[in-house]
Amino acid sequence: MNAKAFKILILVFCCINFSNVYALKPYAIIVHGGAGTYSTDSSENHQIKHVLLSAVEKGYSILESGGSSLDAVESAINILENSFLFNAGRGSVLNEEGFVEMDASIMEGKNLQAGAVAGVRNYPNPISLARLVMEKTPHVLFAGEGINRLLEKFKLPKIPPDSLKYRPKNEEHTKSPKEKRGTVGAVAIDMYGNISAGTSTGGVSNKMVGRVGDSPIIGAGTYAKNSTCGVSCTGLGEFFIRQSAAFQVSALMEFAQYSLSKAVTYVLNEIYKMGASGGIIAIDKDGNPAFDYTTQGMPCAFKSSNGVSWIIIFKNELEKNNHK
Ligand code: ASP
Repeated sequence: MNAKAFKILILVFCCINFSNVYALKPYAIIVHGGAGTYSTDSSENHQIKHVLLSAVEKGYSILESGGSSLDAVESAINILENSFLFNAGRGSVLNEEGFVEMDASIMEGKNLQAGAVAGVRNYPNPISLARLVMEKTPHVLFAGEGINRLLEKFKLPKIPPDSLKYRPKNEEHTKSPKEKRGTVGAVAIDMYGNISAGTSTGGVSNKMVGRVGDSPIIGAGTYAKNSTCGVSCTGLGEFFIRQSAAFQVSALMEFAQYSLSKAVTYVLNEIYKMGASGGIIAIDKDGNPAFDYTTQGMPCAFKSSNGVSWIIIFKNELEKNNHK
């Protein structure tokens, strides 16, 4: 081969590689507002869908402008934490002694970095604290007095725990299984193919002081790995922990070649057989969404650069494809 032909070959090789590295991938975000029991009265569900739509739109706008899936997930969850409508942040349920203890975690699938907080009593956006743990400390999970130290070290305002005791009018502190507010979570993939997942919750109503659920446990409530998927779970956390639910979805894809939706449904069924119900949202490495739940409903919204978007509380709403 002469020198000119060799140069052309190198140029072609570089172009192919360049386009591989910089080819932009489909981006997408899915959010959930907690598996549970929901009214079938559509006017009651309107508010939930409205906030869910704001969250998914916020995350999507970040992805659309070239932002990271981590930013999209955090921003979407912040909206849900601030809304009072969900069992996370300002709308968190109370424990048996009548105060709030919140859990959250976030993970990115490129380098498998993760951050989490458990038992947060005085900061309204635990998902942002989880991200701070991931990015600004050498650790993964903070709990108890460590949370106060974090807030002090990073000069974040502590808010009075009482201000988190929000209760809509007429709603008593009750063990009612009809508790409508749910845990929140988001999973996104950005145009660079990076997947992130996050989950934020007030836990279960009337829980014992110090009880920690699956939401801040990496591999249980949240997991992300670029080569497989991102996952956020909701449901009775004790069971999701014992099943390593979020990691199991990823592992079934990696080691048993399950499709994303088959893996999601399989894990929920395993948990159901143990006696608990819940829900899972996920996105795979190609931007395809999957979700399932074994409760009566689960608010869930999705938007992707492929032009697909929807918001539902019940599975049968998807057939109507209500939000194009
Ligand atoms: N998984 C949460 C927990 O156990 C609760 C929920 O998702 O409803 O803390």
